Amino acid sequence: MITVSEALDHLFALVSPLEPETVPLAQAGGRVLVKPAVARRDQPPFDGSAMDGYAVRDEDADPGASLTVIGEAAAGHRFGGSIGPGQTVRIFTGAPVPKGASRVVIQEDVTRNGDQITLGSKLDAKTHIRPAGSDFKIGDSLDAPRRLSPSDVALLASMNIAQVEVTRKPRVALISTGDELVMPGETPSPDQIIASNTFGLKALLDQLGAEPRVLPIARDTRSSLEMAFELAEGADLVVTIGGASVGDHDLVGDVAQDLGMQQAFYKVAMRPGKPLMAGQMGDAAMLGLPGNPVSAMVCGHVFMAPMIRVMLGLPACPAPRQTARLGCDMLKGGPREHYMRAALDDGEIVPEGRQDSSLLSLLAHADVLLVRPAEDPPRQKGDQVEYIAL
Ligand code: AMP
Ligand code: MG
Repeated sequence: MITVSEALDHLFALVSPLEPETVPLAQAGGRVLVKPAVARRDQPPFDGSAMDGYAVRDEDADPGASLTVIGEAAAGHRFGGSIGPGQTVRIFTGAPVPKGASRVVIQEDVTRNGDQITLGSKLDAKTHIRPAGSDFKIGDSLDAPRRLSPSDVALLASMNIAQVEVTRKPRVALISTGDELVMPGETPSPDQIIASNTFGLKALLDQLGAEPRVLPIARDTRSSLEMAFELAEGADLVVTIGGASVGDHDLVGDVAQDLGMQQAFYKVAMRPGKPLMAGQMGDAAMLGLPGNPVSAMVCGHVFMAPMIRVMLGLPACPAPRQTARLGCDMLKGGPREHYMRAALDDGEIVPEGRQDSSLLSLLAHADVLLVRPAEDPPRQKGDQVEYIAL
């Protein structure tokens, strides 16, 4: 059996970055920027006022000074002239600072009477001017590859970039397998259950920026599985769920191989999720997840998500890990790397008492997956341990 890290290396070899496409900025959030976006202008494009007040020359900014108001500068409407000795211009936030002025006295420090103003007795030292280009300058860039956050999108807009080149969304076909499964909303017979992790994985793929497609459930027959693989045609990644163990009804590996799947590996030394398989199937990568709901979801985070990131053009690396203080003692670990549902509260991490791979309710309430290395020695409360955020 290979390790999680060896399995990841195999998986990274099965996928590569997809081609770019151009999308309007309004659709760019969450997408992965392919090449650096370069500012097409300075921001602000002029020295602008940061406050509502009066633009004055430095020489005139004496406490108690009297000045004559000769005009107004508002956002979007500059004052065309320039300020001479003893003069001032009424100015508002976002307006270009008139020629001659070197600071803005805030309106709270000014008394006005007709065209005359008197400056207060105590003036602050700030200029209240945002210099041209103080946010960014023409030619400054936002580096790639990068998943665009809402803040990034705001920055790109400010740079006057109306469309961006992003990686095409990976098309992922999700095939649930099993005679016992029905779709949510259907009426199961007494021996049936609802396909659940299929939808959890769909949600995870949505979050990752993929384009998932939930295919009809494949039954535990060769013909039904063959039909499902046929429907998956055109996907970049085919993800099967269940049917990957060694039971009489576990046909996924056999059928996939008969259809030409070149298997990269089968079985990984981890808990939960041992019966994992992967390979190349025509132009697509194939990932065979275990059926147990928690195993499927854990493998989704540990294996599927990093594959999607590579397809999106992001670096090939495992699910990011953080560390926290253990909030209880733990007995010696087992021979397989263990991903435990755990609560993270106030920087302390405590694994759930039950870790059976069928218990989705515990997964839903867990904050993180605590990762125990294979053959982990007994651990004490207060030890530093690693986890993956959910
Ligand atoms: P299998 O790997 O097909 O033997 O499935 C292992 C366990 O996971 C069985 O209890 C299945 O009923 C369950 N299972 C398989 N696929 C799903 C699914 N898509 N949603 C929920 N449970 C599933
Ligand atoms: Mg099954």
